[in-house]
This record gives sequence, C-alpha cells and structure tokens, in this order.
Amino acid sequence: MRCYQTPKGPAIVHLHGHLRRLLDSCKMYRIEVPYTAEQLATACFDVIEANGLTNGCYIRPMVLRGYGAVGMDGKGSPIETYVPAWEWGAYLGADAFATGIDCGTASWSRPAPNTFPGMAKAAGNYNNAQLIKMEAQANGFVEAVALGTDGMVSEGSGQNIFVVRDGELLTPPINGSNLQGLTRSCAMQLAEEAGLRLRVEPVPREALYVADELFFTGTATEVMPIRSLDRIPIGDGKRGPITERIQTRYQDIINGRADDVVDELGCVGTLSSRYT
Ligand code: PMP
Repeated sequence: MRCYQTPKGPAIVHLHGHLRRLLDSCKMYRIEVPYTAEQLATACFDVIEANGLTNGCYIRPMVLRGYGAVGMDGKGSPIETYVPAWEWGAYLGADAFATGIDCGTASWSRPAPNTFPGMAKAAGNYNNAQLIKMEAQANGFVEAVALGTDGMVSEGSGQNIFVVRDGELLTPPINGSNLQGLTRSCAMQLAEEAGLRLRVEPVPREALYVADELFFTGTATEVMPIRSLDRIPIGDGKRGPITERIQTRYQDIINGRADDVVDELGCVGTLSSRYT
C-alpha cells in the first residue's frame, strides 16, 4: 500500500481494498489471521507515525507461517504478522511518468490457473515475478509484459496492463494468471468517468504492438506509460493523451486533491486517513 501526504494528513490509498485482498489471500491458503482489518489498519497508521513517515511511504503488511513445522502441513507453524513501512520513491523512475518506459515481452509465462492462485497476493507468486523482472532488466528493459500459459497477455511483474486503441480501453480479464489490481479497478472507473469505452477481454500479444497507447497500473507503479515493447514504439513512442488523462486524475485522487471524485467514483475508499 502507499500512503501520501494530503491536505488532511497522511492517507493510505485503497486501504480497505488492500486489507481485504490480504485477508482473502490468507483464506485461500488456509491461514487464519488473528487480526481484523480494522486492527491491521490501525497498525499501519501506528507504524507510519512511529517512524515519522508522514510525507508518504510504502507499507507492506504481511502474514506468514513462521518457524515451526518442516513438512508441507503449515498448521504446525505459528501465524505471524508484520507491518513494515519505508520511504519509497517512484518505483519505475520519476521521469518515466512523463516519458514512458521501455518494456520487453517476458519469456516466462505467468502461472497457469489452478497452479499458484493468481488472485492471491502470495509471496510465492513473486518467484515468478522476479524471473520476469530480472530477465527484463538483463535485456535492457525497465519492465516486462508477461503472457499466460494460453499465450494471451496477462500482466507485468507487478502491474496490470491497459491498451488504448481508437479511443477505447482494453484490459485482460482476471483469469487466474493475474492479480486483481486495485489501481486497475480505479483506472477502469476513471475511464468510465472520462466517457471512454472499456472492454475487458482476452488480449493477444500482437494487439500490444499496434496499440495507440499502453500503460501499466499498480500501487507502487501508479499509472505508467509504456513507450515501447520489444523495441517497437507504441503509438508515437511517448505518453499518449488518454494515459495522461487517467494518470493525472489518479495523481489528483491519491494526493487528496480530488476528494469529490473519490466519493463520486466510490473509487477506492480511495484515501483512508484516521485524521479525517
Ligand atoms: N499484478 C501484480 C502481480 C502485482 O504484484 C501488483 C501490485 N500489487 C499488481 C498487479 C497491481 O495491483 P494493485 O493495483 O492492487 O497494486
């Protein structure tokens, strides 16, 4: 989760959505979390305050099975909960918000449905994400677009993806290979607000090369234009107008400059602050 300094104090974006996803992920893995979402929310704000991170930070609540059983039955291990937080700047580089990033298509696929549950934000999924991300960087790219085992576009190593063509937005469905991103949902709502047609349907890889615009969404990534894929320029090879519009709107929301919009869109429970 990210926390931003807003006129009303530090506020966490999509706080309740993130905590719900954490608890849902635990349920899938048969982990009984000994805390409520409310208690976890309080812990997040406590950690931010205690560490003086009031200018904004990244918070990563984690629930795990600690030291105990060695075998595959995790019940013998104690459930431990951690709430680390730290200052973390623009994940893919501050300049990239305006210029866009260069991406490659990953040679690794995302996990197939019914293998590692894609809807769970589980640490094990990030073994696959690391393969994808490190390969991209080794090839001189900032990020990668990964395909599912069906060959259709899935997502980035830690981002959902959107395609813009002829003024229309397209994003892959949540199909067991990708995470149901909260920023994705927000971008979908912002597209609707902007009167853009939105389609959620399987995206073939080749649709990416001929897109007018491509962008990633994610909590760490925020809304990030993709200017090339596999060294093929996307559109004009720079941030496009629709990406910029959604990006600006998202920035306004998370920085607390668009409270009205937040309520109107229900986009989020976007900002949660115990000071409001
Ligand atoms: N996909 C993956 C694999 C991710 O790790 C993330 C980041 N949490 C996302 C998508 C984007 O999700 P969100 O917008 O909720 O941060």
